[in-house]
Amino acid sequence: MEQELRSQLFRKLFPQAPRYRLDQMHTAQFTRGWTGWGDATMFSKEMRDALSHGIPWVSFISSKVLESKKKDTYKALLELFDGKKIETVLMLNRKNNWTICVSSQVGCAMRCGFCATGKMGFTRNMTSDEIVDQYRFWMNFLCEHPKLDQKISNIVFMGMGEPLANYENIKSAIHALLKYAVIGETHITVSTVGVLSVMEKILEDKDWPRVRLAVSLHSADPDIRKNIVPTSFEDFLPKLANWSKRYLKKFGNRSHHLTYEYVMLAGVNDSLVDAKKLANFVTTTGKIKVNLIPYNFTDSEFQKTPDEQTQKFLEYLHKHTVIATTRKTMGEDIAAACGQLIVADKKTKK
Ligand code: SAH
Repeated sequence: MEQELRSQLFRKLFPQAPRYRLDQMHTAQFTRGWTGWGDATMFSKEMRDALSHGIPWVSFISSKVLESKKKDTYKALLELFDGKKIETVLMLNRKNNWTICVSSQVGCAMRCGFCATGKMGFTRNMTSDEIVDQYRFWMNFLCEHPKLDQKISNIVFMGMGEPLANYENIKSAIHALLKYAVIGETHITVSTVGVLSVMEKILEDKDWPRVRLAVSLHSADPDIRKNIVPTSFEDFLPKLANWSKRYLKKFGNRSHHLTYEYVMLAGVNDSLVDAKKLANFVTTTGKIKVNLIPYNFTDSEFQKTPDEQTQKFLEYLHKHTVIATTRKTMGEDIAAACGQLIVADKKTKK
């Protein structure tokens, strides 16, 4: 059974309470340094006691944090109420603030060949509370480590799971983060394998927050893409191009762009012929950004593209007027880099 949300529990506990009280509950939860309902002084002692008994302060029961050697990346393993475990990552970004990478599902059903999470299979969607609690977890972690920079400036939905396969829950989580974590829309990025039916919905949904999207393209050749991203299908590329144009018309502006992610796999999608296909494809999509991702080691048959080849690929794209960057790999030594998030669940299975 799905864990009841804190807002539902609140309404059950205080059916007569005016709306602003619920808002105060959320505000209390996002207050730095507060570690339980006992701190929530906007409520009477009576209410605080009722909250302590009736509503869990956080949606995980244990946590373990790993630190990278460079101390610029931290990975946390959080155990949820049903014993399932997920991972979330805190990384130092270019501005020396923190970006957090959040999971949206326990496991993933997309089975991308190069991704460790894909190998776990799908267990369940995460609730919106479980999603926002990853932010709250890191907020408190930083509070407890005052020597570290304190600002979380960005959130990326690039942890475990396919966010668009858990649409309603990520949407409520994003609304909560925008409101209570005070992070701007263009500082949140949702990465998708390319669930076109849901991407269409985004164009129609008035309630969809104007956060950024990144689409995991990985190849502009339909056969190669199908090989590495098994959820791909024959006319995916023209459909993505058509969708991208409409997306950019609706959301695109100076600060809001659309990104295609492209993980560089040696001998698979990293030749100059592949770069040419990508550059040609991009002429059909509107002005998008390409982000080349170095392959992070997982238990798969794939190999990392050598840096010099990635550089040549990048130069080819630039020469053909494609806006392209490469992503810095972080936290590899603690298996916290893209696609390395996996939780060996064997011991907890009863
Ligand atoms: N399900 C979402 C989020 C996945 S993680 C999606 O598919 O976009 C974010 C990015 O990391 C995706 O582009 C994903 O394809 C990429 N990724 C997965 N495994 C990787 C690996 N081993 N090395 C580098 N990037 C990887």
